[in-house]
Amino acid sequence: INILAIESSCDETSAALISNGKVLNNIIATQSVHEKYGGVVPELASRAHQQHLIPTVHAALEEQGLRPKDLNAIAFTKGPGLLGSLLVGVSFAKAMAYALDLPLIEVNHMQAHILAHFIEEPRPAFPFLCLTVSGGHTQLVHVRGYFDMEIIGQTQDDAVGEAFDKTAKLLGLPYPGGPLIDRHAAAGNPHAYAFPITEMPGYDFSFSGIKTAVLYFLRDQMQADATFISRELANICASVQYTLVEMLLRKVRKAARELGLRQVAIAGGVSANSGLRAALEQEAEKRGWSLFIPKFEYCTDNAAMIAMAAHYKYLEGDFVGMDVVPEARMKF
Ligand code: ATP
Ligand code: MG
Ligand code: FE
Repeated sequence: INILAIESSCDETSAALISNGKVLNNIIATQSVHEKYGGVVPELASRAHQQHLIPTVHAALEEQGLRPKDLNAIAFTKGPGLLGSLLVGVSFAKAMAYALDLPLIEVNHMQAHILAHFIEEPRPAFPFLCLTVSGGHTQLVHVRGYFDMEIIGQTQDDAVGEAFDKTAKLLGLPYPGGPLIDRHAAAGNPHAYAFPITEMPGYDFSFSGIKTAVLYFLRDQMQADATFISRELANICASVQYTLVEMLLRKVRKAARELGLRQVAIAGGVSANSGLRAALEQEAEKRGWSLFIPKFEYCTDNAAMIAMAAHYKYLEGDFVGMDVVPEARMKF
């Protein structure tokens, strides 16, 4: 069984092939047009998907020596994401499935981020706790089965990736700044500056307060000394990163304890963060958790995770009709 999967929810155009549950490849075309705007421009993203999608799908098939008639199903990201971007992927998938008379499989992007854990060994066993941290989401999920997932906590405002990116912007770093904060933080002292830790009820998060705190902190420091940011960049990055990681960690610890879960996984682009990885590794060691962190390629947006989700849906015979439409705020 060969399935072609397409991902186009944000600013990455991606195509992947999966054969009998084994991911064969994962072709990703990253859009660079957004860099100079300091964030993703939706209209430009849709246009870039239109330009990149056919060459990306072609490359995936070509690389494996497969032809369209070797496929058994076409899978695509239905949501959540930017509507225009999703529309390009959904329309393409529908057209291809129609032309080849193949079944269509819709995939929820946030479930796929979690199912990225099943692409390679070691795979977590159900039930497990997953912290999904990305540019648009921060969710704590109780995962009981491939599609039996419950969001037990989430951000009430900004996503943690957004907090990283907005902090980076205040520091004059290019978009997306999360990885740059991570890099500079490595050379800094995480306790050089103290930023407020926002406590939300239950398992929820809030990351808008820290952004404001950083904004005022930098404004005051720069007024006193205009070289502050360039001089203290590593310490600022390390301190902000420490605070963001600590906020995530507190809820993971609380949920693991209260739900009695000893397998903890992280998913989404921010799971690439070395501060978060190190803190979770330490926590896992201390509490006897098994910790699961996907390969970096499968943390950020990619079609391999869509393919993995599609594989399990294919086994269940979970297909959709030609009347399917994208859903920007899709829930699960
Ligand atoms: P969503 O999946 O919610 O729709 P998205 O697709 O934009 O959002 P991802 O591609 O999964 O999200 O992740 C991108 C985010 O991850 C960006 O905010 C980026 O700054 C952040 N990120 C990537 N690497 C790191 C890192 N090493 N440290 C901190 N943040 C990082
Ligand atoms: Mg992205
Ligand atoms: Fe994503």
